[in-house]
Amino acid sequence: FEGNWKMNHGPSEARAFMRAFLERYAARRDRTVVLFPPALALAAVRDELETAGRDDVLLGVQNVHSAPKGPFCGEISAPMARDAGASWCLVGHSERRHVFGESDAETAEKVKIALASGLVPVLCVGEKLEERERGETESVVLRQLEAGVSAVESAAVGGIVVAYEPVWAIGTGKTATPDDAAAVHRVIRRDLAARIGARAAEVPILYGGSVNRANAAALLGAENVDGLLVGGASLDPEEWAAICAT
Ligand code: PEP
Repeated sequence: FEGNWKMNHGPSEARAFMRAFLERYAARRDRTVVLFPPALALAAVRDELETAGRDDVLLGVQNVHSAPKGPFCGEISAPMARDAGASWCLVGHSERRHVFGESDAETAEKVKIALASGLVPVLCVGEKLEERERGETESVVLRQLEAGVSAVESAAVGGIVVAYEPVWAIGTGKTATPDDAAAVHRVIRRDLAARIGARAAEVPILYGGSVNRANAAALLGAENVDGLLVGGASLDPEEWAAICAT
């Protein structure tokens, strides 16, 4: 279960969120929970986890630059994120691609530096509504996947996580049906298998797009759906606790 706060919850709100969430969600060893706070709130979330003695909740960043350091005003790097306590990193989230113009080539470099820095990259892929209507879902997703892993050795592909997030389902309240999700996840799994063989079965493929406590179980029940990437519904501690307990 991965919660992407996007540009919400600064340090003070993040601390209050964590206290409320940890009270409602007891550690469970049969699942992985990762939170992606804004980078400025990462230390606050980490402190709350340490104070509560909770190592079951992991931390990630929402984006990194492709360089380890340098004159890139406003950016953060993968090694810095690791140093700050993150172990995961989103790459190519739809807002990075479609609001900030991030290219496929940039996602490739980001996957590469994330892996090299000890972060698990969550490569986000997904088609826009018009692409879906043109019947291009599969080709868009495969193009983004191909590009995203193109800068790393095929053996390293087993260390990534893929998130299928149809753009038309993100923040819109429109969720893909479990069958829709399963159909695309199958295509992703097949592509991974062609790259890394049997190890493809171990690459988690997450679904994201308007997930909430009411639809989480059905989506998780779909074939090849190994987890959920959640935006809006991860902002409320009670809702997020309910989703993580699915
Ligand atoms: C996301 O931003 O990754 C996301 C899935 O958002 P939401 O759950 O709000 O649709």
